[in-house]
Amino acid sequence: MSLEPHPTLEDVEAAALRIAGRVRRTRLVRSRPLSERVGTAVHLKLESEQETGSFKLRGAANMLLSLSEEDRGRGVVAVSSGNHGRAVAHMAGQLGIDATICLSSRVPEVKRQAIRALGAEVVVAGATQEEADREARRLVSHRGLVFVHPFDDPRVIAGQGTIALEVLEDLPSASQLVVPLSGGGLIAGIAVAARGLNPDIEVHGVSQELGPAMHDSLRAGRVVPVEETDTLADALAGGLGAENHHTFDMCRALVASTTLVTEDQIAGAMRFLHDAEGLVVEGGGAVGVAVLLEGRLAPKPGTVVVVSGGNVAPETARRVIGAD
Ligand SMILES: *Cc1c(COP(=O)(O)O)cnc(C)c1O
Repeated sequence: MSLEPHPTLEDVEAAALRIAGRVRRTRLVRSRPLSERVGTAVHLKLESEQETGSFKLRGAANMLLSLSEEDRGRGVVAVSSGNHGRAVAHMAGQLGIDATICLSSRVPEVKRQAIRALGAEVVVAGATQEEADREARRLVSHRGLVFVHPFDDPRVIAGQGTIALEVLEDLPSASQLVVPLSGGGLIAGIAVAARGLNPDIEVHGVSQELGPAMHDSLRAGRVVPVEETDTLADALAGGLGAENHHTFDMCRALVASTTLVTEDQIAGAMRFLHDAEGLVVEGGGAVGVAVLLEGRLAPKPGTVVVVSGGNVAPETARRVIGAD
């Protein structure tokens, strides 16, 4: 149960001060090939170059740095074999906080090792993400660990929103932001900050066609479950959870549109970013570029695409973009 208010622009500004020096200020680059393709200047915000390979470090950093001394001493727990788990493990290690990451037995041993290598304890619990989640909640009540939600927490959302402050500092004329969308922490933080600074800025979400939790929920007018399917955009898979306190409301109020892209379109965007820009980007990080390449969103001057992550498995990189 959370009675906390939704985060505001002021919370994002406070987060930026808090996490400064702990996360990279990533590059905003004008993409000449993409600009030529769509006929207007398009910039890319390269969170694929963030420490740990994704923007998730911003939210994790702001969350952990916001904890009281007492809570830091209790240790934190998260559920994620991917970018969130990596970010929490990394930042906890930096701050000397004990981190436990709960995973299902389906997560391959190499991924468990990678999280252990960052100094976190790995608990393998159950055969599904849901069972791993239940184990994490149990550790919260039995061992007093502090739960670090991957998206639905005001401190996490505010941390992700710091991306918007950097974008608008580098490109004050930004007019529309195209943002990968799963649980909505990234887009909610970006939208509250960007639109707080300039209410004319439009924020557009992009999800994979296979299991787009927030898109379906916004359509339905309430949080609906999605089926978890394998997708190239693995960082975007998964539902909103039974109880959502922040991101659904914030997306409903602040997001101008949501668009879905197919697996082929995601693969095409990953190839384009590699071949034309020399960037290795994971599927979830490439969906915004896919939308522009496909002409699914009217380009206008001041378009910025958030490239949210670069952690692509080597075999996927070889198969999809012919690179490691
Ligand atoms: C987590 C993640 C997203 C989606 O973020 P939400 O806050 O869940 O919407 C997008 N891209 C990458 C690379 C991610 O790791």
